[in-house]
Amino acid sequence: MALCNLCNETVANERLLDHVRLFHPDQYEDVDTWPDGAVLVVDVDLDPEDFE
Ligand SMILES: [Zn+2]
Repeated sequence: MALCNLCNETVANERLLDHVRLFHPDQYEDVDTWPDGAVLVVDVDLDPEDFE
């Protein structure tokens, strides 16, 4: 799951773009993206302990 940084809703990663387009059309143009155009996803499934 990913966290929408506009409304703090959790959304499936692959649904995040649709979510922003539908729920935050005014911000859709401003969605954070990586230089290659992929949406910047804050993945809330990850836990710091996973990296130890
Ligand atoms: Zn949202």
